[in-house]
Amino acid sequence: MDGDHYIRAQERILRAYSPKQFKLDAQTVFEAIATFLMTSQLSEGSVLNWQSMHANMGRASKLLNENSGIDELINVTLKRGQTIHDPRYMGHQVPPPIPITALFEAVSSILNQGMTVYEMGPWSSAVERVMIKELGEQLGLKEGFGGILTSGGSLANLTALLAARNTLDKDVWSKGVTSLQKRAVILSHGESHYSIERAAGILGIGTENNLKTKLDNHSKMDPIALEYQIKQLKKAGQPIIAVVASACSTRTGVFDPIKDIAAVCKQHGIWLHVDAAHGGSVAFSEKYCYLLEGIDLANSIVWDAHKMMFMPALSTYLFYRNSQDQYQSLNQNATYLFDAKGSETLANDTGLGTIECTKRAAALSLWGVWAIYGKQLFGDLVDMTFYMAKRFSELIEKHPDFDLLNQPESNIILFRYLPPEVRYLTERKQGEFQKKVRKCLIESGESYIVPAIDNNISALRMVIMNPLTTERHFNILIQALQKYSKQFIEELAGNALIS
Ligand SMILES: *Cc1c(COP(=O)(O)O)cnc(C)c1O
Repeated sequence: MDGDHYIRAQERILRAYSPKQFKLDAQTVFEAIATFLMTSQLSEGSVLNWQSMHANMGRASKLLNENSGIDELINVTLKRGQTIHDPRYMGHQVPPPIPITALFEAVSSILNQGMTVYEMGPWSSAVERVMIKELGEQLGLKEGFGGILTSGGSLANLTALLAARNTLDKDVWSKGVTSLQKRAVILSHGESHYSIERAAGILGIGTENNLKTKLDNHSKMDPIALEYQIKQLKKAGQPIIAVVASACSTRTGVFDPIKDIAAVCKQHGIWLHVDAAHGGSVAFSEKYCYLLEGIDLANSIVWDAHKMMFMPALSTYLFYRNSQDQYQSLNQNATYLFDAKGSETLANDTGLGTIECTKRAAALSLWGVWAIYGKQLFGDLVDMTFYMAKRFSELIEKHPDFDLLNQPESNIILFRYLPPEVRYLTERKQGEFQKKVRKCLIESGESYIVPAIDNNISALRMVIMNPLTTERHFNILIQALQKYSKQFIEELAGNALIS
């Protein structure tokens, strides 16, 4: 009986590990993916296939329990999601990955390199080092810089601020946050990504001590106000762990004047962290690389390859101007640090500077795309998406039914759709209208944009993340907005929206 069990178990295991079956399944799946790419690029389906959580869970449970075949499982998965490859997708900062990355990711999955120590992924560790070197040089970092590859901008921001905190206060790592110098603060861009505030909470600095810096009237960090704030804090005896600049900011997509901020930080001996999760990739664009001027002066920099380098999630590069700083974040004691510096084996272990232990070989796709298409492609993707954002802003600036709320410096546009009937309303009601129209729009699957707040009033936000988006797709969006606003305008006639 026991013997029987193992025989059947072995049969089931061999079936799951069969290379022959894998070959058949791979053909089915890659065929389905290619068809999906084609129909998505032609906008043949919905952008977002809107279903309630309940309906989706029902379908997923049913498929789970009825012994489904791979074609059905893959097809439902391709169809039920957010179709980022459809050029009508103009929503959050998630790109359609360059298709060939799917093949490198498949290889990465099957090899499953653990990465923490060099011998658990010698080739992928080397590829990672090469990409850190190339990207760091692209940012203009000088000899002696270092970097790690980690799982997401949020984790990278946390890691960098951990290094900054441990540099300021050497004891807190071992003695706990009670030893953290009293009232130590972070000074971050007034609209920094929420992961910065979270990091302040996680690191025991306290979210209330993540102080927002003053912004100028282009929503950029104001270096003069920053210096004033630093002087006041110093006078009050409050140590500053780091200044966090944005390149670019999440909501409005503007780049802080890094060079001027770096000069202030240098003068006052403060760690400068630049959150370039979204905008780091402009380093590849001849036209836009000026936006990062001075980034080589930062102590640490975060750059998401899964945003404007069009890689699949997650793949984030964290750079330190001084490579030894990476050991500040997680190394427990000085002897270990000394060993890491002195021993070739330890220095090659990528896990020394990352919060993760096991980690994906996330550099392979970038390495592959760069090798096959050349690095010019990354500049092209930035130029094209930034250009189309500019085009859209020009289109709606002239249009009587739109209010453009920012002059885009990147691929992020803020606006409100305000047809004549809505312009009579109070600002708050105009804001409510943006939310209602967007809900109808995204549930229709005809276009996809995201909500935003501007001046405390609801607005709409668009990020051109698909390099295939053109004016044709803008017109589809505008027509859909017109169509879905009709029903609210009819409601308005019945005074339903008027305060
Ligand atoms: C996207 C983003 C983050 C968060 O990165 P994840 O990879 O999503 O964790 C942080 N900061 C900025 C400026 C971003 O654009």
